[in-house]
Formats: sequence, structure tokens, C-alpha cells
Amino acid sequence: QIRVGVLALQGAFSEHIILLNTLPQVSEAVAVRNAKEIAEVDALVIPGGESTTMALIAERSGFWPALQEFVHTRPTWGTCAGLILLSEKVTSGGTLKGDQKLLQGLSISIKRNAFGTQKESFEAGLHVEGLEAAERLFPGVFIRAPVIDEILDTEKVQVVAQLERDYGMTPKGTIVAVRQGHILGSAFHPELTRDNRMHLLFVKMAQEWIAKQDK
Ligand code: GLN
Repeated sequence: QIRVGVLALQGAFSEHIILLNTLPQVSEAVAVRNAKEIAEVDALVIPGGESTTMALIAERSGFWPALQEFVHTRPTWGTCAGLILLSEKVTSGGTLKGDQKLLQGLSISIKRNAFGTQKESFEAGLHVEGLEAAERLFPGVFIRAPVIDEILDTEKVQVVAQLERDYGMTPKGTIVAVRQGHILGSAFHPELTRDNRMHLLFVKMAQEWIAKQDK
């Protein structure tokens, strides 16, 4: 069993905690707000919310360096705003554009708020690589969601999910989930569904990664 932290500076963190606590592989899922709390977890989830706000709070409270250190060395999963924070660069869609502060664990570039106003929130059925009962589509909930517009290191980054059809101006095949070693990122919000298969995928990935490190 592993102890999983959910970054609780802002956003949809309680929903992640509830879903993680349904998994037998998780001893406990807890909120993480500072360097002391992050030191006590085996893996971390960064929730959806507002990426610029989360970065600002982490920076002002002096938590940013410990957060960045964790992300670069321990299993981490970012959903939506969390995915943005984990990326290497933001190309468009945000007010701060290139200046946004990022944790830079995933070699990808991100387009924020990629679905425009009409399709700001919607649900899309997705095939997710490595998911249990993968023939059953995963309900991808997108809320002012980003997309991955470029994979910067194609050797390290693995595509985990893509849009199965066009959504407004965003075409079929657009990448919405990736994995790079110990880091998972998704543009959608599995914590806002009753389907815990993405959480299971992450927890198993984290367990395997930790087991390999300990050898
Ligand atoms: N638009 C938000 C951002 O840029 C992300 C939205 C979300 O997490 N649901 O941070």
C-alpha cells in the first residue's frame, strides 16, 4: 500500500482524496499543503483548478522548491491545471503565456483553455492506454481544459489518450493524456466521475516505480 498526497492549495482536491480512498492499494490519501506534508507521502496528485493561482500560492508560501523537487523525483499525476503545472512550456491560451511558472516535469508544451467558449465543458469517451477494462471508454470530463499541442521529447513521453473525434476547432487525435517515467498527466478530470480506473492506473504505476527504485 502507498500513501498518496493531493496538492490542496486550490481546486478540486477533495474529490481526488475521496476516489483515492476507494482503492485497496492506498493506505491513506491526504491533503498536502507544505514541505512537511509532502515529505510524508509516496506519490502526489495535482488537481484541476487554476494553474496560475496554485503556482502563486506555492511560491508565496515558500513551498515551490519542495514541490518541484518532489515532482522531479517521485510519482506524480496532474489533472487539468495539474497537467499545465507539470508541463515544460505553455504556448497559448493563458493570460501569462510564456511567463507562467511551471514545474517542468513533462517534456510537452500546452495550450491552455484549448476548447474555446462554446465547448468549455463537455464529456468525451476516451480509450486510455493501460486502463483496466480498457474496452469500456473512460468518461473524460473536460472543463476549460488544456490540450497537449506538442511533445518535446518523443523518446521519453508516451501518449496515453487522444480525442476520438473533433470537438469544435480541436481535432480528433489531439493528445489529452501522457506519461513520462514517473509522471502522468491528463487534461480531463477523472476525480469528477465515479470511475476510479484512472486513479487505479496511477497508483499501480506509482507502486511499480517505487518498487523499481527500492531494488
Ligand atoms: N483553465 C485552467 C488553467 O488554466 C484549468 C482548468 C481546470 O483545471 N479545470 O489552469
